[in-house]
Amino acid sequence: MTISNVGDPVVASDFPAMDVGSRADRLRDRFSNALVDALLVAHLPNVRYLTGFTGSAGVVFISLDSMTLITDGRYQTQSREQLSQSGAVAEIEIVATTKDQMALVAGLAATLDRIGLEENSITWAQQQMWANAMGAKQLVPTSNLVESLRLVKEPGEVARIRAACAIADSALQDNLSILGTGVSEREFALTLEVAMRKGGAAGTSFDSIVAAGPNGAMPHARPSDRIIGSNELVVIDFGCIVDGYCSDMTRTLSVDDPGPEATRLWNVVQQSQAAGRDAVRAGVSCREVDRACRDIIDDAGWAEAFSHGTGHGVGLEIHEAPRVAYSSEEVLESGYIVTVEPGVYLPGVGGVRLEDTVVVTDNGCEALTEFPKYLYAS
Ligand code: ZN
Ligand code: ZN
Repeated sequence: MTISNVGDPVVASDFPAMDVGSRADRLRDRFSNALVDALLVAHLPNVRYLTGFTGSAGVVFISLDSMTLITDGRYQTQSREQLSQSGAVAEIEIVATTKDQMALVAGLAATLDRIGLEENSITWAQQQMWANAMGAKQLVPTSNLVESLRLVKEPGEVARIRAACAIADSALQDNLSILGTGVSEREFALTLEVAMRKGGAAGTSFDSIVAAGPNGAMPHARPSDRIIGSNELVVIDFGCIVDGYCSDMTRTLSVDDPGPEATRLWNVVQQSQAAGRDAVRAGVSCREVDRACRDIIDDAGWAEAFSHGTGHGVGLEIHEAPRVAYSSEEVLESGYIVTVEPGVYLPGVGGVRLEDTVVVTDNGCEALTEFPKYLYAS
């Protein structure tokens, strides 16, 4: 089988360089507040952020005066190449076993008192292994030390997310015409995924959601063999990865008239999403953005049917800080990238969700997902 028109993958050299080298010092600036002398970084997106290393196994041990990436023999060459390209200042140690890795970290930590462990990504079993390896060392649970650095995106990161969003926009645009021609949810999801890969994406940023008719009432429905009808709403939530960075967009469409209730549903969610986008600005709390979306849906009588938060950060991970939700204490800053994605779900009827990925600015926000919002796919 041949697959025609496969574009080149989008690679790092297509974008402005990222300032990976300065990230370690910005992390070290946070050590005293976190009451640690060093941090063991095991969450792979954080390892990548600090070093540029993209392997599937590795930890970083970072103290005030050194940083060490510890990985295994599969990544001997890759780790050296990636660290030299990223500009991260770090030693590389190659180990054969987890036991060796732990012994090496214990050696690096030997003269230090308080070692931070990332509480959100270390399991109970791992914590016990590290405690055994480091003897009497005082392990300190830390929360979001690297994640908080990742909140404000550098121009190079924005450029990568923008490119991922553009590939997804084109994938939907180029395949819109097959909706309503007897294609199933699964076939349409696959079509989008192939189009994004051909467009240069490294892969999908999460499992695509294509949910037609009553299936749309489940916010995280899995694509089924249901044929997408012409007179029903279809919720399409999908994204891709470019040089490690994710995109995320939802559109809800119908080929022909989906009926008055579905049309009203779509219009209310469209107004809600626009109000949320209008509320996004540096200095505004995530809770206020959520409130702006929720007020319009509440007024329409569907308060209970908006059953999830309004959005989330997007970057190296598809879901990262901040949470845009009614319970969120976080305040937006210029350079954050978040989604605005209100939805209404009516069991037995269907659902509507509209989602953009936006970059926060001092005066508002700029949508990186540019696909227009309209109800009719044709
Ligand atoms: Zn999404
Ligand atoms: Zn999302």
